Order: sequence, then C-alpha cells, then structure tokens
Amino acid sequence: MLDLLAHKIHDEIRQGEAYAPFIKDETPYQKKFYIESYGCQMNFSDSEIVASILNDSGFGATRNFAEADLVLLNTCSIREKAEQTVRKRLTEFRKIKMQKPGMLVGVLGCMAERLKAKLLEEEKLVDIVVGPDAYRSLPGLIDEAEGGQKAVNVLLSRDETYADISPVRLNSNGISGFVSIMRGCNNMCSFCVVPFTRGRERSRDAYSIVNECSDLFSRGYKEVTLLGQNVDSYYFTPERADHLAQEAGSVTFALLLEMVANISPELRVRFSTSHPKDITDDVLHVMARYENICNYIHLPVQSGSTRILQMMNRTYTREWYMAKIDRIRKIIPDCGISSDIIAGFCSETEEDHQATMTLMEYSSYDLSYMFFYSERPGTLAHRRYKDDVPEGVKKRRLQEIVDLQHRLSRESNAKDLGKTFKVLIEGDSKKSEADWMARNSQNKVIIFPKGNSGYAKGDYVMVKVLDCTKATLLGEIV
Ligand code: SAM
Ligand code: SF4
Repeated sequence: MLDLLAHKIHDEIRQGEAYAPFIKDETPYQKKFYIESYGCQMNFSDSEIVASILNDSGFGATRNFAEADLVLLNTCSIREKAEQTVRKRLTEFRKIKMQKPGMLVGVLGCMAERLKAKLLEEEKLVDIVVGPDAYRSLPGLIDEAEGGQKAVNVLLSRDETYADISPVRLNSNGISGFVSIMRGCNNMCSFCVVPFTRGRERSRDAYSIVNECSDLFSRGYKEVTLLGQNVDSYYFTPERADHLAQEAGSVTFALLLEMVANISPELRVRFSTSHPKDITDDVLHVMARYENICNYIHLPVQSGSTRILQMMNRTYTREWYMAKIDRIRKIIPDCGISSDIIAGFCSETEEDHQATMTLMEYSSYDLSYMFFYSERPGTLAHRRYKDDVPEGVKKRRLQEIVDLQHRLSRESNAKDLGKTFKVLIEGDSKKSEADWMARNSQNKVIIFPKGNSGYAKGDYVMVKVLDCTKATLLGEIV
C-alpha cells in the first residue's frame, strides 16, 4: 500500500506492531501473551479489547514473543498481500513452537472465518482461531487448546459490540485514543470482504461510548477518534425501559458527535470512515458548530467513473460525489478531505482511470490511500466480474494516481504557508527530541522547535507554518 502521510486510521508503520500496554501493569500474572496486529485501526482497537479479556483471565502482556505462553495475530483480509504477510509470520511462529511445544498460537480477526480449516487442519499452523465477534470465548478456547484440542469460534453476531469491555490502551501516546462505535458493515461494496469477515452492521450503546470517551479524557487524553466502517450510518435505539437514553430517544451519528463533543471543549473529536452516500448535512453542521470536532473527513471515493462506481456497488455517481465535496466546502470551508482509491478494478478502461484522476483534482485531497485492485474470494466482484486489468496496467495506473496525489498534497500544504493553526502536541518529533510533533484540526502533521516555551505533550499551542514538505508542515510557536 502506498500512503502519503502517517495517517491514523491505517498506519503502515504500525502493521505488525506488538502489544505494549500504555500504563505499566504491576499485576503478577501467571502467564504471558504476545499480540501482533495488522490492518485497519478497527483491528488495533480490537486487540485492546482482547488484551482486556486476557488480563481478566490471568495473562499479562509481553513484547517478546519468545517468552510468551500465548502468541496471537490479529489479522486482516482486505488485500491478498495482507494475508500473505500473516501466513509468513505464522510459519515463523511454528518454528519457535517446535522448540517450545507448550506455546499456543492463535489467529484472530478477519482471516479467521475465511481460513480456519486451512490454518488449523491443512497447514497445522495454529491452535486457536477466533473471529472478530467471538473474543469473549477466548479464555474457554485457550483451555480447550491447552487440553490438546483445536479450538475454533468464528461465529458472527448480530449484536456483539463489546460495549461493556474497557479496552486496555496499547502503544498509545496517552493523548489520542480510538473508540469503536459500531462493528460490521451492511454495504456490500463488490470488491470488499469486510461484510463477510466482520458481519452485519451494529451500533454500540451511545452512553457506553460517551463513558469511554469521558474516561479517556479524565486520564489525560485530549483526542478521541470514533471508529466504524461507515460511521454516518450509526444509529442507536435504546432497548431497556430504564435506560437513560430512553429520554433522548434514538441517537444518530450527528447526535453522538455532539454528545462526545460536549464532554469538554478541551477534548478533540475525530471520526472515520464516512461513506459518501451516508454523510449528512446534519453531521456537517454539527462539525461546523463545535470547534473541538476536527475539520477533517475521510471520504473514500474508490473511483471517479460512474460506470465503475456502479459495478463497485458504491451507490453514488461521480456527479453526486462532487456535489458532496461542494457541500462540505460550503459548510466547512477549511475542511481537510482524504480518500481511498482503487486502481484497475474489473473492466476499468483508460477513460475510467482518467475520470478518477480528474475527480481527484476536483476534490483536491490532502491525502489518499491508494491501492491496486486485489480480487478477494467470495466477494460480489469475484463472483460477478472478471479481474481482467493486467497487473502491469494496474500498477502503472496506481503510480499515476500516487504521483498526482503527491502533487495535490504538496499544493495543499503550500496553501498553508503563513497560516497559524491551533495544534495538539502528540509527542516528540521522530527525527529530533528538540522538536514537537503535533496535528492541526485538518489532521495535518506539523513539526516545530520546542524552544523554551514550557509546553508539554497534550497541550494546545498556536503554531505558524513557515515551510512544508509534501507530508509535513514545519512551523514555529507564535
Ligand atoms: N469502510 C471503509 C470505506 O467504505 O471506505 C473502508 C474499508 S476498507 C478496510 C479500506 C479500503 O481498502 C477501502 O476503502 C478500499 O479502498 C480498499 N480495499 C478494500 N477492498 C479492496 C480490494 N479488494 N482491493 C484493493 N483495495 C481494497
Ligand atoms: Fe467494505 Fe464498502 Fe463496507 Fe467499506 S463500506 S467496509 S468498502 S463494504
């Protein structure tokens, strides 16, 4: 995958990252677990839920898999390459297991359902396979596996949201936290495995979300990102008569945003991902009204050709998407916008490809995630269409898209020269401890010298942009 900025939602640098709890845990655990996560931020958030479940059943975390009793991989199926990476890793773990037979190896997440039989029986790579809705059964499955059985639970659920589980924050900077607000997806984009691997869409109890965000804020966090495959279709209807929510009625995404934004003006609120068909004016107006809801929308277009969009089952046209961009720019003039783009989907012609490029220009994205099409078994596209664009053509088109995005990112950053932004300090810059790394509301990274101003991680500060690269703004405190 080629992405341009260190983006928070699918951070390439974080792929395969090993677990490390943010807060030092002094509990004397009998056993140790090690977990590596792949894929999107939802998976990383799920690992935090799994960590919480394992802590409760006597497992403490380690970053060294050689000393672990239980090694887990939280996997991604979105493209073939993601699956290959995980398989390679499992083969490495099998070698260690040969010297340490008591060690259990488990596969979690999106590959679980698709490859359970292969991983357990044919390739004998793993002892435990657990799907994304079955993490509560992990302690029981570990017992079974310790007894020598192959332990599997890949059942998908219509109502599991893990609302009551307090995630253990992993590898966090202690400033920005991710909060899952829904699971699964009902959209059935023809290229995508998510509806099959993560099941039907369900929204988490709005009050448990607000409680989790308030708790993060009380522990010093200054930013929450609300996560879901399609956050704008969030819809929570309280069921219990005694529930507080009964008074307020149903909660839409716009209302949820307000509820979280009202926790404190000092708490920034972000969200991802928005499907262009579902983001409403209500959401845009709430964003415009609250200074602490960040002016940034990840609005994946996938293709700029209406014919391809129809085949992708995205349910909007090129013109409809352009009108949505216009609407965002009208209601939130300084909104940062990013996208996901797929090059070389089934039957894509040069003309379709050019349509994607012109739509990128029209939208002037600050950032894009760009992929070439990877056919996934079982998806609608796999059943209906031929993956007929030659690999060389896919890659050439992808490169053209990447080059264009580089230019758009540079242009977008150049427009910020001389502007002053309120930014949130996330920590030291990777390159130098003498500089801070922060983000502005539009999600752009800004680096600036610490100087003697006495600011600390988690502080808001006004910074003037003096220079830029295609990926970063460079500035000074004003
Ligand atoms: N729910 C989000 C949405 O609708 O945009 C994102 C879902 S997916 C985890 C992230 C991105 O992966 C998609 O937006 C799409 O661009 C890309 N993707 C999904 N399936 C793909 C495939 N089969 N080949 C290439 N890219 C794919
Ligand atoms: Fe996949 Fe489409 Fe759902 Fe996103 S909205 S997860 S691309 S099916």
